[in-house]
Amino acid sequence: MTDCLFCRIVAGEIPATVVTETETTLAFRDIDPKAPTHVLVIPKEHHTAIGDVDPVLAGQILATADQVAKSEGVDSSGYRLVFNTGEDGGQTVFHVHCHVLGGRGLTWPPG
Ligand code: C5P
Repeated sequence: MTDCLFCRIVAGEIPATVVTETETTLAFRDIDPKAPTHVLVIPKEHHTAIGDVDPVLAGQILATADQVAKSEGVDSSGYRLVFNTGEDGGQTVFHVHCHVLGGRGLTWPPG
């Protein structure tokens, strides 16, 4: 999917600040952070939304998110994982991504 922004990040065509990567996932800093820690975890393979991802890959995304929370030092204070999904869910980039947000007290409910 050459017209997909996140596929282009995976391909190295668009720069990103990579935090970590595995064989199947990539974690990079959000370009417009909403919290002191704001990292996106994506599968390297293109899938539009979390509902399109098989359970093994979904588990790999969550495992990488957990690794990021630990390496960012937010695991003990607390953090939030978010999959914005579809228009009403606020998804703007249609390559599935897990937001890892932390480093401040996060309010609830989200807007
Ligand atoms: O969940 P949603 O689709 O709205 O999130 C997309 C995220 O991708 C936004 O937080 C945006 O700041 C981020 N982004 C990025 N790098 C880009 C383009 C968008 O980190 N080049």
